[in-house]
Amino acid sequence: MKIGVLALQGAVREHVRMLEQSGVEAVPVKRNHELEGLDGLVIPGGESTTISKLMHQYDLMEPVKEMGRKGRPLFGTCAGLILLAKRIEGMEGSHLGLMDITVRRNAFGRQRESFEARLDVKGVAEDYEAVFIRAPYISEAGPEVDVLSALEGRTVIVRQGPFLGASFHPELTEDHRLHSYFAEMVKESRTEKTNTV
Ligand code: GLN
Repeated sequence: MKIGVLALQGAVREHVRMLEQSGVEAVPVKRNHELEGLDGLVIPGGESTTISKLMHQYDLMEPVKEMGRKGRPLFGTCAGLILLAKRIEGMEGSHLGLMDITVRRNAFGRQRESFEARLDVKGVAEDYEAVFIRAPYISEAGPEVDVLSALEGRTVIVRQGPFLGASFHPELTEDHRLHSYFAEMVKESRTEKTNTV
């Protein structure tokens, strides 16, 4: 089993390390042929419009969308979450547009550009340390979306089938429980694949 980390912007090495600590093989991905044979993909944080532009430039937007349509697990963190969303407040259209959610960018206010918080994550972890940097939150989630965590009433972690989204940077602490949860999702999706063949 092999999980890719989109390596266009953001803390790629940290994501790779977290996945390795969760006991899975992880590789940075920059070219679209490197997507072949991957069982899942992490889309790191950074700046969503920049990552989106680079994805078009490197011919990665369609192939990643296709991965998602095929039911391969994707994990978007911070800007990566924005890329996964079907709706972005104040913007026409979307990027990957795979999750039935609306996101609000830079949503925690200027005075709180970056901060840490402790979260309870449904079915995943209690007292989980999360680092928020110019973070978005999920302002609306469709009926098929499972809300896994909220901070002060604002949704910050969601799952919809094979897609997992977090509005913070789970790669910047020593706590790899969310990466382990994603690795589990990838394992399960592989089992399902084998069972249906
Ligand atoms: N504010 C960024 C955006 O809108 C996301 C911030 C991040 O990924 N840390 O794309």
